[in-house]
Amino acid sequence: MYRYSGIVNLSADLKSGAVSCISLVSDCILRIHEKQHLNIFLEVFEEEAKIRAAEIDLKIKQGSAGKLAGVVVALKDNICYKDHRVSASSRILENFTSLYSSTAVERLLAEDAIIIGRTNCDEFAMGSSNENSAFGPVQNPIDEQLVPGGSSGGSAAAVATGMCHVALGSDTGGSIRQPASFCGVVGLKPTYGRVSRWGLIAYASSFDQIGPLTQNVEDAAWVLSVISGKDEYDATVSSQPVEAYHKNLTSVQPRIALLKQCLEAEGLDSEIKARLNFLVDELKKSGFRVESVDFPYLEYLVPAYYVLTTAEASSNLSRFSGIHYGYRSAEANDLESTYKKSRSNGFGPEVKRRIMLGTFVLSAGYYDAYYLKAQKIRRLVADDFAQAFKECDLVLGPTSPTVAFPIGAKSADPVQMYLNDIYTIPANLAGLPGMSIPAGFGEHGLPVGLHMVGNYFSEERMLRAAHHFQQATDWHQRMPEGIV
Ligand code: GLN
Repeated sequence: MYRYSGIVNLSADLKSGAVSCISLVSDCILRIHEKQHLNIFLEVFEEEAKIRAAEIDLKIKQGSAGKLAGVVVALKDNICYKDHRVSASSRILENFTSLYSSTAVERLLAEDAIIIGRTNCDEFAMGSSNENSAFGPVQNPIDEQLVPGGSSGGSAAAVATGMCHVALGSDTGGSIRQPASFCGVVGLKPTYGRVSRWGLIAYASSFDQIGPLTQNVEDAAWVLSVISGKDEYDATVSSQPVEAYHKNLTSVQPRIALLKQCLEAEGLDSEIKARLNFLVDELKKSGFRVESVDFPYLEYLVPAYYVLTTAEASSNLSRFSGIHYGYRSAEANDLESTYKKSRSNGFGPEVKRRIMLGTFVLSAGYYDAYYLKAQKIRRLVADDFAQAFKECDLVLGPTSPTVAFPIGAKSADPVQMYLNDIYTIPANLAGLPGMSIPAGFGEHGLPVGLHMVGNYFSEERMLRAAHHFQQATDWHQRMPEGIV
């Protein structure tokens, strides 16, 4: 079996003939079958991926292949791929087929990537553990009793096990970065507006971003350079030029800040804190300037996030009426019962909870008390980050307050589950880019993620710093046995 170690090496090996796209696809399919019980993929496009691999092998021979030739990509099941099913891991969209491809997918295909299948996730990307999927939870490949994180848990686990080389996920409050940290891979959430949301099934439109999950930082840079940039189908995409992130990974010495309140937060596990302190000491020893800055609103951010995202979700999910898409209750006999029964049976409990919460916070009489207040907090967080970026280039911290937890441990207590996103949510509220990279292991050998937040559209600097960090360490290559 080919040992994948990044897009750069892969391209060289494909060009020299050391490996072929066909054999890469077969390797991935073999791994998917071997670990089917982990429930990582909802569907594998086996035959189609093989046919495409053969076509791209030919292109490579002819010297006409794109930048991502032969890179095997998995898609989170909320990213549309024309003529393929997409369900957002929900019964309400079971057997629904995409009418068009997302812009991110179009761009990957144009560079000759091979799409291998769709990965399991929390229903409508609502969750932090992948336990909210209508098609069952995903198990963490490092320890099958544990969650892989969420909501892009299938995508993170697929990269960690070598079932694909790269995966796309979506991040509304941490759904790329938190599973990346739980599975020991790299996860990048771009600046809001860097990547088109066209073809991403909406959860909370002013937060959602598509981004890559990869084995290393360099791969994340490659994928980001391909999927970013202007798109006539999404008015919220920025027309800022896209840097060739992958070509400029030379090292930088960013000024680093730690957010005081983040390190003092009650729920922060001692093993994560110890790991972070160790990393900060190492950074200081190698000459980095590390400051501590004030971040006073931390405790309000999870509540503000859940007010705003549920409000947006209640509106976005109103289109799933039992009429236009997917599932329709067989017991319905008029318009009202079609809505009621289809939505009651089609949505899972967490999605229903959020639709009700979102409808409540938007209702007359409560709007000012909840929605408006949360909007004000959103502005304060952005202002706080703006202040911090006067003193520093990069904010560092843990990705999650804990390592991967056992399946079932938090599913009865939504607040405990929501608090798991405390460190990733601030970047989404402010629209800033964030990234999780492997930073070694905790007391029990489970991966810990280092979280970085940069200023708007500073992905290049963030990737350079992350790459520099990864060059100096080998944690991303030291996964437990059996894991790539
Ligand atoms: N866990 C968070 C939530 O449930 C984040 C989800 C996401 O980023 N899609 O909303």
